Amino acid sequence: MFDLALTRVFGAVCPGCRSRGSWLCVSCAQSAAQPQPCPRPRSVDRLFVGRAYAGVTREATARLKYHNERVVIDWLIDPVVLKLSNALAARSQTFSRGFLDAVTITWAPTTRAHRRLRGFDQAELLAAAIARELKLGLSRELGRLDNSPQTGKSRGLRRVGPQVLALHPVEGLVIVVDDVVTTGSTLSAAASALRDAGADTIWGAVAARTEWGKTRGPARQM
Ligand SMILES: [Zn+2]
Repeated sequence: MFDLALTRVFGAVCPGCRSRGSWLCVSCAQSAAQPQPCPRPRSVDRLFVGRAYAGVTREATARLKYHNERVVIDWLIDPVVLKLSNALAARSQTFSRGFLDAVTITWAPTTRAHRRLRGFDQAELLAAAIARELKLGLSRELGRLDNSPQTGKSRGLRRVGPQVLALHPVEGLVIVVDDVVTTGSTLSAAASALRDAGADTIWGAVAARTEWGKTRGPARQM
């Protein structure tokens, strides 16, 4: 596990090999595991996954979520930005020139309690960075009715998913961003709300995908 105390004393330490000098060395960055093929969450038309939720990717998501270390954001979003960019380019060839103007990027909101506690929503930060890279509009479209996080729930409870509502009518293609997909219930709830609010097409975009049982529960919480 990454040692925050070490970082404060000696500067950035790579979480993969503990070499010093940058938060992630080139070798560990390149060796991050690719995601396995993933079933599409219900109501999501396409799912774009950056990396497998393991090793340095797991550490990077934890550092953003639990320590607000925004230096990890660009690396976390890189592969999913590339996949989205390719998919949008392919789609814009078959649609009118104004197609990209009608694409909205939003995020699956965390609970109000977590947002209050941390002072930010990690999914919003990732969505903002993705929107900036793709030069697309970012819009807050979703809210949470429940106050209970998915992290730490049993698989059965996770499948029920959070209660998500759309804040405005929407149309066209909406890309909904989250940090990690596990059972897909959060993205499903978000997509259902967006569909009910008028979205034609919903794509999910996540920095990482975890396979249930291959990790020892959620990343550490502090
Ligand atoms: Zn390293």
